[in-house]
Amino acid sequence: MKDKSSDVKKVTGRPDLRLLSLGMYCPGCHYGIITRVICEVIEELGVAGKAIGLAGVGCSFGGAPMTIDIDWTSCPHGRAPAMATAIKRIYPDAMVLTVQGDGDLGAIGLGCFMNALVRGENLTTIFLNNAVYGTTGGQMAPTTLLGMKTTTTPLGRDIQTNGYPLHVPELAATMRGVAYAARCTVHTPANFQKAKKSLKTAIQKQIDGIGYGIVEFVSACPPGWGLKPLECLDYISERMLEEYPLGEFKNVDKTD
Ligand code: SF4
Repeated sequence: MKDKSSDVKKVTGRPDLRLLSLGMYCPGCHYGIITRVICEVIEELGVAGKAIGLAGVGCSFGGAPMTIDIDWTSCPHGRAPAMATAIKRIYPDAMVLTVQGDGDLGAIGLGCFMNALVRGENLTTIFLNNAVYGTTGGQMAPTTLLGMKTTTTPLGRDIQTNGYPLHVPELAATMRGVAYAARCTVHTPANFQKAKKSLKTAIQKQIDGIGYGIVEFVSACPPGWGLKPLECLDYISERMLEEYPLGEFKNVDKTD
């Protein structure tokens, strides 16, 4: 009988930067897939040796530093852009990225983030938007959808009491020091590939010294949404992307 093992072609595998730790993610959380996007992009750009990650407070901190084999530091809540600014100015050749959730960046850290954009820092931010505070029990976030039920909006988010959902890349795109702003998902294989392209473009802007790059990942939080992992995929397609359209909002080769 012919030995078929020699016919087997390896088409994928664990990225070299992906540590064996599973991280601290719930079943169905998309953060594990996003860490794979980050690993693959850093490897393909050949910048692993000079990559420094800054993890915000929340589930993003519970996973990224444990699963991606680059240098990391943890930050006071919402202050990753300020620490990233200091590190980038001390080590201008480093590739510095922040990984922040919707509470860390969009609530307590929004002022810190906006000031980094105003200064036109040469950084990359990965913004994880699952529309709830996953770590602390599914409370309303700045990105919670109108009508969405959370533990602090049991009747659904309403405009009169809670205001409107926050659109981070659209907001960032208005800032003169921002070179790239986009939103993506990893809830289908095609979108995984588009997300890689977006993150690669954002990091390349930093490498080329053009300006700030931000990529939002719309992602699932099954316990926060009260849905099964597969139901979350439909929820993203039918509800999340209605409020948060995918695409590039800014992509320039020169900032002011
Ligand atoms: S609580 Fe939500 S965001 Fe946090 S690890 Fe679980 S699924 Fe992911």
